[in-house]
Amino acid sequence: MNFLEERIVKDGIVKEGNVLKVDSFLNHQMDIELFDQMGAEWKKRFAGKPINKILTIEASGIGIACVAAQHFHVPVVFAKKSKSINLDGEMYVAEVESFTHRCKNNVIVSQKFLGAQDHVLIIDDFLANGCALQGLIQIVQSAGATVEGIGIAVEKGFQSGGRSIRNLGYQLESLAIIESMDAETKEIHFRKQ
Ligand code: 5GP
Repeated sequence: MNFLEERIVKDGIVKEGNVLKVDSFLNHQMDIELFDQMGAEWKKRFAGKPINKILTIEASGIGIACVAAQHFHVPVVFAKKSKSINLDGEMYVAEVESFTHRCKNNVIVSQKFLGAQDHVLIIDDFLANGCALQGLIQIVQSAGATVEGIGIAVEKGFQSGGRSIRNLGYQLESLAIIESMDAETKEIHFRKQ
């Protein structure tokens, strides 16, 4: 097991409905040293890519992306969730359905902070059905920028997002891929990487 898998086994809580709670170290209280290790690992996995910007989505992606960015020495832009429908024309917009909250949000990024010159690493905490990622990819495409890679902390490999994103040809690097988890027995199995 790698460092993140070990931490998930130690502190993750498997909930009903295929939800893994990791709020003691990832998305409520945050273990910055763990994030730093994650950043170092992505830096290795994306070595040689001309990344000049990191894109994530609020809220849980921001902390991870900021710590990871210290390994890449690039700025972080986060897509904001917005309920507003009359957005002015200076935003890239994508619609994202939330797996955990079961609602739809527009996510927006200002055109000032993403453009055709950008080579983007997308970072997020979880990959489930891939909705959040598809929205971020759509935003990068609207900007005419290039997706150089995607870094995910926890992929739920039994949901369809990872397969669809890899089938589109993106380099997707998930640091822990869960094959199965059981709310009753608390057992978690990871895909060998
Ligand atoms: P997707 O769009 O891939 O279906 O879901 C990704 C988003 O849903 C992530 O940004 C994350 O916030 C949330 N998410 C999905 N599954 C889980 C889960 O099992 N646990 C937690 N904590 N968040 C999840």
